[in-house]
Amino acid sequence: MNELPVVVIGAGPVGLAAAAELVERGFEPLVLERGAEAGAGVAEWNHVRLFSAWSELVAPAAGRLLEDTGWARPDGDAYPTGSDWAERYLRPLATALGDRVRFDAEVVGVARRGRDRVVDSGRDEESFTVHVRAVDGSEERIAARAIIDASGTWSTPNPLGGEGLPAVGERSAVDRIAYRVPDLADPVVRTRYAGRHVVVAGSGHSALTALVALSGLAKDAPDTRISWVLRRGSVGNTFGGGDADQLPARGALGLRAQAAVKSGLITVVTGFRTEALERDDAGRLTLVSAAGQRIEQVDEVVTLSGFRPDLTWLSELRLELDPTLQAPVALAPLIDPNVHSCGTVYPHGAQELAHPEKNFYLAGMKSYGRAPTFLAMTGYEQVRSIAAELAGDHEAATRVELRMAETGVCGGAGLFDEPDDAAAGGCCAAPKAEVLTLS
Ligand SMILES: Cc1cc2nc3c(=O)[nH]c(=O)nc-3n(C[C@H](O)[C@H](O)[C@H](O)COP(=O)(O)OP(=O)(O)OC[C@H]3O[C@@H](n4cnc5c(N)ncnc54)[C@H](O)[C@@H]3O)c2cc1C
Repeated sequence: MNELPVVVIGAGPVGLAAAAELVERGFEPLVLERGAEAGAGVAEWNHVRLFSAWSELVAPAAGRLLEDTGWARPDGDAYPTGSDWAERYLRPLATALGDRVRFDAEVVGVARRGRDRVVDSGRDEESFTVHVRAVDGSEERIAARAIIDASGTWSTPNPLGGEGLPAVGERSAVDRIAYRVPDLADPVVRTRYAGRHVVVAGSGHSALTALVALSGLAKDAPDTRISWVLRRGSVGNTFGGGDADQLPARGALGLRAQAAVKSGLITVVTGFRTEALERDDAGRLTLVSAAGQRIEQVDEVVTLSGFRPDLTWLSELRLELDPTLQAPVALAPLIDPNVHSCGTVYPHGAQELAHPEKNFYLAGMKSYGRAPTFLAMTGYEQVRSIAAELAGDHEAATRVELRMAETGVCGGAGLFDEPDDAAAGGCCAAPKAEVLTLS
């Protein structure tokens, strides 16, 4: 089995960081990416500027690998867009990894070789089989000694419906609903929203980004109306920690969104859980909440209420996932938004990410399940630890090499119904392991 590759699923920031870590550990990784190039997910939000600076977006092992190729490291204090992240880092990294990265290779299933989920016999000693499909429909099976699934959650956004399932009428209104931050620099997209009544649903950083962008549009096209719909009962700490945020750009985004609301450009509707969308004869929408409230004459909806992991193609593996978050059970309590609003994560690695299925790991955005606070740095530390564990270096796997920036809004629950002081001391009061700076 030792001659088989460690298969990494996804050539996003975390999958490629995993490959770089594995190379340093002497493994032969094989990264399978369904897109045509590295960072295919990131490239879909090209226009969004990250709130993390370059110094937090280049994985340590990846940086070392790239420097050997003469790569020019971007200014650590500058803030890239998604496009910059993909072009100046992810694609050069994939090139440096060479034929260890394969494109047009969508993973559609993973299993233990010759065994479905039920069979115990010889399970831990057997290799994995990765089921791969290309765009032309051709299929392939690849044997692997271990799997790191870093396939993200980008392709499975949460619906508008307040119960986590599509609202009545949501499916038939998809021509009027976007589940991503609109790129208003694109003239076609700009025309779609200019002078319209736009509802933005959601309370995370993507929703704040959309509100700031749309309020800029409203200044140019004054007929534009923006309604901001939140499920939570009050705006509370939605704007984040502002100047207290240890990631200054993340704090500044909240302050800009807050200023847009204060200036009267945005109508805020709290405690609204969408149950149905109705369409009138002119094609305009009405959003109806579970409590019977109505938001009428809506032209466009931008739903930004988070993502969820696609676990369908992992059905033959024995995963141990938290019933609330769909994240590994030992990780979930550290990131549960019912308790933690900080965006702070307690240091974790291979141990917290392990499953009953030996040598299988979820990493990156997907490892967080439905928790909204994932940062790339967390994923880089996860895969450093996983590579160490696979190499049998348990000491390095359990050592913590990460310090996370706090949002400055610790002490309240991050979910919609909770008053700000409901979980007083929640995340900040929890004991933290000693932390070191990511180097
Ligand atoms: C708009 C936005 C802004 C963000 N800003 C920040 C920020 O400022 N700072 C920060 O730290 N984090 C930020 N994040 C969070 C996070 O760092 C990014 O989402 C990051 O891209 C997650 O990396 P990943 O590798 O886990 O997943 P992804 O980037 O989603 O990569 C997954 C890859 O897997 C591929 N894939 C998916 N399914 C399959 C399959 N079945 N088979 C093969 N390949 C597959 C995809 O095509 C993709 O290339 C942001 C996220 C978003 C959406």
